Amino acid sequence: MPAELHPRTKITTESIFSRMSRLALQHGAINLGQGFPSNPPPAFLLEAARKAVGTVDQYTPPFGLPSLREALAEDLGVSPEDIVVTAGATEALSSLADSLYGVGDEVVMLEPYFDAYLPQTLMVGARPVLVPMRLTDRWELDLEALERAITPRSRALLVNSPYNPTGSIFSREELEAIVTLAREHDLWIISDEVYDELYFEAPPTPLRALAPERVFTVGSAGKRLEATGWRIGWIVTPPGLAPAVTGMRQWSSFCSAAPLQAAVAQALPIARAEGFYPQLRESYRQRKDLLAQGLQAMGLEVFEPVGTYFLTARMPGLSAETLVQQARVAIIPGSAFYASSPPPEGLVRFAFCKTPEDIAQALERLERFLKIRG
Ligand code: GLN
Repeated sequence: MPAELHPRTKITTESIFSRMSRLALQHGAINLGQGFPSNPPPAFLLEAARKAVGTVDQYTPPFGLPSLREALAEDLGVSPEDIVVTAGATEALSSLADSLYGVGDEVVMLEPYFDAYLPQTLMVGARPVLVPMRLTDRWELDLEALERAITPRSRALLVNSPYNPTGSIFSREELEAIVTLAREHDLWIISDEVYDELYFEAPPTPLRALAPERVFTVGSAGKRLEATGWRIGWIVTPPGLAPAVTGMRQWSSFCSAAPLQAAVAQALPIARAEGFYPQLRESYRQRKDLLAQGLQAMGLEVFEPVGTYFLTARMPGLSAETLVQQARVAIIPGSAFYASSPPPEGLVRFAFCKTPEDIAQALERLERFLKIRG
């Protein structure tokens, strides 16, 4: 028997998203758990990819295909020099963990948190410090608790807006308060903005606009263009820091899939010109309303999202296992987003990036199940 694996391997197990998708398949459940769209990506993206395969097939520079950096720079209003293309937003986040903190450092983040944040922090030897959001009839940022969580060991604040799983978007005032804290305590800010085009009221403010010298923005073509399996993400770094971050990511995947980078480069300006994002928002708004109204009609407490394709609600007394096995609807249990404090009673997350037919059928199944259960 060879030597044991490094204890680091114990940090992580099967993700809740993979687990719920596996259970959904096993039980013939409708999958409102893992957030991946049922819609195919837009035809203009697929067409661009078909053309790129066989043309753009070799390594790109580790900072990304130059045409994609250019297209992103144009779209985001930043310099191409400050962009690092990554294999999905997940690699963007892990490259930032590698670049910004390590053993003995603390990273302050909010709870509920997106699952990758914790293992990625632990794997570089840093300590996640979780600050619970307040849940009244809506999700609220507790700025005082955020400030209390900062210590001399804090290196970075990690925030997510539009926010998975809460569906909230931080106001400009909240972002300004976050920036003030970061400046006072000299912290980096990692701003996970992968749902930047998915909002239902006012558009979110990009955090880097308020503090370009310390904000690293994480973005995702998979989220914007409905192709989560393509693994094309990006980081916008503060000026001058892209080479160092590129240095980290080049030893994990070296570069992202070249033809898919080329396709995204082509698709980004088309998406703007053709009004793809407003259409996407409208389609999600309809599905959000369908789900929210259906759940409310069953008497459930729903926390209406203003961004992302997730909705949180309370279903007290029911486990995700029971729901997937007996109601045959897969959701994500709220507990999956909590590690330091107890999750709000009965909290569940639904993904509404699914077909209206699937959402309607899931609602029917839930209603029937709740009725039988009494
Ligand atoms: N972002 C998606 C979600 O929250 C899935 C992430 C994943 O499975 N890696 O559901």
